[in-house]
Amino acid sequence: VYLEALQAILTEAQMIQAGAVANYIPELATADPHQTAIALCDETGAIHSVGDDTAVFTLQSCSKVFAHALALRAVGSQRLLQSVGVEPSGDRFDGIISLESRGRAHNPLINSGAICTSSLIPGNSLTEKLKTLLGGFSEFAGSVLSIDVSVFLSEREHGHRNRAIAHLLRSSGGLTGDVDEALELYFQQCAVQVTTQQLSVMAATLAFQGFNPKTKQQVLDKSHVRDVLSVMMTCGIYDASGEWMYTVGLPAKSGVGGGILAVVPGKMGIAVYSPRLDNFGTSVRGAYICERLSDRFGWHLFA
Ligand code: GLN
Repeated sequence: VYLEALQAILTEAQMIQAGAVANYIPELATADPHQTAIALCDETGAIHSVGDDTAVFTLQSCSKVFAHALALRAVGSQRLLQSVGVEPSGDRFDGIISLESRGRAHNPLINSGAICTSSLIPGNSLTEKLKTLLGGFSEFAGSVLSIDVSVFLSEREHGHRNRAIAHLLRSSGGLTGDVDEALELYFQQCAVQVTTQQLSVMAATLAFQGFNPKTKQQVLDKSHVRDVLSVMMTCGIYDASGEWMYTVGLPAKSGVGGGILAVVPGKMGIAVYSPRLDNFGTSVRGAYICERLSDRFGWHLFA
């Protein structure tokens, strides 16, 4: 029932030429701007997908949702709230100015907050933490995920702004522990590679209260899913979150790799991919597709 509608929306989206591929690190600038994919994962774990649905891209900021989930799983919401807030920042994803007066990151879905959640991923060494992270992400995806090493190295080499954010937070006490280790893990989580199909399963696991419909495993506690989705709904699209809620009406998260995941609670996991981005760092075609899907299937939460 879905494929025909998906194909029609894909064809419309492919006519959009606006936006530009991320170029803040050299490795991302090499993405093929024409690639576009849509995948839906339903309650049976079946995936309905069209376009470049097996093309591989890096999660980038989409990883923040799952790092938030794993940090909640590890330390609980009370402890996490001490380090990272749940307020939209009204600022760019890599904003730094407001940190100066606030001392603590606004929310887990912007860079500052995500570096803090990464620092709370358990493990006695960076290797162990990376194992926890990749293992956890893979549970959401229902497949074994790995890192794109060149994207990771590129980000590590050029991540001066993120280093500045992390050190500022460390000096104000918003971030505790080893700064370099937190940054290293953050750069690694951004470089985790997925296909649009895999990302739709990750979204579906959130749509079905932490139950992965593909592997039939409970990955995250229901109460933590509630926390994660609440923050996605208010902060997932950075300083364009209000407009997103207005037009699409679903909790979602975008990443500069071109991926977006969106969640229709109790109904569907949505993933889209196309590398050309708008000024906020969100895929242009991806946003268009999400809006059309929401309209077509009546998925806006307040429709
Ligand atoms: N790796 C990117 C960064 O830290 C992620 C940002 C994003 O996807 N919006 O700048």
